[in-house]
Amino acid sequence: MRYVLDTSAILSGKDIPTDNELYSSPKILDELKHGKMKRRLDFLMESGLRLISPSDKTKEEVKSAAQKTGDIARVSEADIEILSLAMELDAILLTDDYSLQNLASVLNVKYQGIAQKGITKNIKWRNRCTGCGRYWEKMHDSCPVCGSKLKTTMR
Ligand SMILES: [Zn+2]
Repeated sequence: MRYVLDTSAILSGKDIPTDNELYSSPKILDELKHGKMKRRLDFLMESGLRLISPSDKTKEEVKSAAQKTGDIARVSEADIEILSLAMELDAILLTDDYSLQNLASVLNVKYQGIAQKGITKNIKWRNRCTGCGRYWEKMHDSCPVCGSKLKTTMR
């Protein structure tokens, strides 16, 4: 089996099946390089973890899906990369991040949780005004009614 690991999967400390093909993105390496988990990453690299960058085209596809679901505010550039990578490699995404799992299911990418059980339904996010409390489907720089900042909430 082919797996793409996100930061949470690498950090989890749980057994990752190293007899499989393991992939991640170089951006993940950037996130972990200076952390205390570097040793774990080194172990995975020695076990055959390969770091590959996905194409810009796939990343754009993932970003536009993330904008539609409202997950864009909660995912990092590294998250976008590993999800794109899982799409390109037709691999299973190993992640405990709900936003990533949600996006994976929207994009028909198989995923598996490490520590938690995967979500069973797609989460829809909404943006709530911190001033007047109105809900907005789209993220605005400020509330179109009262001008206060919006905050993303789970429906
Ligand atoms: Zn408002």
